[in-house]
Amino acid sequence: MNLSMQGWQDILKKSITRADDIPGYFGSDVSGIDRAAQVFPMRINPYYLGLIRKKDDPLWKQAVPSLEELQDDVCFEDPLNEENLSPVPNLIHKYPDRVLFLVSSQCAMYCRFCTRKRKVGTDRMVITRETVAEGIDYIRSHPEIRDVLISGGDPLLLTDERLDEILSAVRAIPSVEIIRIGTRVPCTLPMRITVRLARLLKKFHPLYINTHFNHPAEITPEAAQACTRLADAGIPLGCQTVLLRGVNDDSLVMRELMHRLLRIRVRPYYLFQGDMTRGTNHFRTSIATGKEIMKSLIGYTSGLAVPMYALDAPGGGGKIPLMPDYVSEDGERLIFTNYRGKTCFYESVR
Ligand SMILES: *Cc1c(COP(=O)(O)O)cnc(C)c1O
Ligand code: SF4
Repeated sequence: MNLSMQGWQDILKKSITRADDIPGYFGSDVSGIDRAAQVFPMRINPYYLGLIRKKDDPLWKQAVPSLEELQDDVCFEDPLNEENLSPVPNLIHKYPDRVLFLVSSQCAMYCRFCTRKRKVGTDRMVITRETVAEGIDYIRSHPEIRDVLISGGDPLLLTDERLDEILSAVRAIPSVEIIRIGTRVPCTLPMRITVRLARLLKKFHPLYINTHFNHPAEITPEAAQACTRLADAGIPLGCQTVLLRGVNDDSLVMRELMHRLLRIRVRPYYLFQGDMTRGTNHFRTSIATGKEIMKSLIGYTSGLAVPMYALDAPGGGGKIPLMPDYVSEDGERLIFTNYRGKTCFYESVR
């Protein structure tokens, strides 16, 4: 049956979870895939599986476990120190005016590079009606919180009914100005963005969605339709891409991704340097690589297509911009190099 004829929950149920289920795959590293999947869960739904063209392509790398995940002795379980920055379970309060509120432990696919790999999709991530209620109480009793970022896991894997309850409770708090949802389903399971869901989300404006695409091949007609539905519901869409070795650490691939995002009405927001998350070391690139990619975008394409390159500081210090440097100082004089390498000067105001 055609995927577009099925409900998203039925598609999700048909996800594969072991190497043997990968169609036509009899590689020698089957046991490596399964060993990694026992530590960090595997879930590839039929939609995303259908986008993988061959072994080790950029989509395969994001979805299929690898033995390298078990060979990482450099990185840390909780590199952003989220557990210690949680005043109540599943709510991270590290900036003065906003919180990250985790309301789902499930995702439509378990990305191999996930920052919350230590717990997402496992029984180590305990989210219950009680933890969500505690989070809402915390937000209510901290009126300095004006921006609530609802994430997980993937919050859009909750049912419409549950999502409605949570969003209504957050929206009822007078000090909450904006609600943001962080979700990868427009990329990994676009069928989840139903007409009904878009209609539901529309009730909670001002509501923003940040989604997460990493490669141009993820921008499909289905993804475009999902984003159109959200954008037509008046929801501004941003993208939080992760810089990943072997996936998008290339100027042409990145530019193509940014352009295709704009065409489906998604504005690039962040390009993240890979976190130092245990099990993901093989995905990390140098910061010099990231800066070169940024230099290849800035000036050569519209500012709209240029995300902010940032590092989420280990230990929980917050996001640090890593933009390439175009300015140096010579006394009162500022010396600039433009995107093409041409030098110009600007006299500072005394
Ligand atoms: C990233 C993040 C936010 C949101 O940061 P913005 O720069 O405003 O997008 C909020 N809280 C936590 C804990 C975060 O990691
Ligand atoms: S969708 Fe997000 S939270 Fe879920 S596994 Fe992927 S990166 Fe992690």
